Amino acid sequence: MSDDFQMPDYYKSIKKPQAEKEILVKRKCFYCNKEKEMGKFQRYCSTLCRSQGTRNYVSGYKVGY
Ligand SMILES: [Zn+2]
Repeated sequence: MSDDFQMPDYYKSIKKPQAEKEILVKRKCFYCNKEKEMGKFQRYCSTLCRSQGTRNYVSGYKVGY
């Protein structure tokens, strides 16, 4: 009978879609140049590309081995 019943906080967070905050932008992957929608701070289309890209960067540091 109480009209002002409020949902508990955890209930609200379940109902909210998680992707809501993330704005996806189409941009080219730094590693393979493939266009893909990704988050604001994403630079690679996949975790694979990211690990490859970062590994390349690191191994470029060690050229001459
Ligand atoms: Zn890629």
